[in-house]
Amino acid sequence: MKQYRSTIIIGGLMFLAGLAIGLCLPAMRASTLQMDSRESEQCQVTQDAAKSTLYNKEECCLCGSNSRSLMGMYRGKDGLGIISLNNWYVLDMGVGKAEDETMSGQNSSRITATGEGGCIFHVDLNHVRRISEVRIEYGEENYFDVDKVRGYLCQTCLDKLLDVIDVYGDSECPTGLCMIDFQTQELYSLQNQYVTYYIRDYYVKIESGEEKIVTAVYAPEK
Ligand SMILES: [Zn+2]
Repeated sequence: MKQYRSTIIIGGLMFLAGLAIGLCLPAMRASTLQMDSRESEQCQVTQDAAKSTLYNKEECCLCGSNSRSLMGMYRGKDGLGIISLNNWYVLDMGVGKAEDETMSGQNSSRITATGEGGCIFHVDLNHVRRISEVRIEYGEENYFDVDKVRGYLCQTCLDKLLDVIDVYGDSECPTGLCMIDFQTQELYSLQNQYVTYYIRDYYVKIESGEEKIVTAVYAPEK
């Protein structure tokens, strides 16, 4: 009799446990799905988010004269740059013709941090051969954040940028980096699927991994 009772109790407990698991599993799965969709939603740019919040077009960090952007200094110059988009830091890769001829015989290395949570640029430059290698160490905020960038750019430049980094097409979160040709003001994607570019007289190679390495070489056509 005692044995029967314990069998019944164990059976009952197992039934309850089965019921609990059966009820909880779909709920757990639903919450994981919700998390997944929330994560990818963060990277998706909606029509609303693609609206510039800059009131004065002249303050645009790409085509305007915003004093916080270094673009004004580099615009029109023969050279290439890399932009850390979320904090709009513009790095001159240094492959352009050296203005100071005394510099042209030297190699140089420099490190630039773009600010809190931003990436770090390690630039190695061969002035004689006009080769620049930029190793980019990602910061905590390495994904493109449209909410920040739409405050820096006018609508035309924001549209141009969103097209270049392909925020609509890919399900992966885009990296908050792009390249710029200072002379033509054309933007080039640095997303992982891009490997090489020919930009005017420059050959550019992009390696993507835990860090990104962008190498630009002055290689004019014969
Ligand atoms: Zn603009």
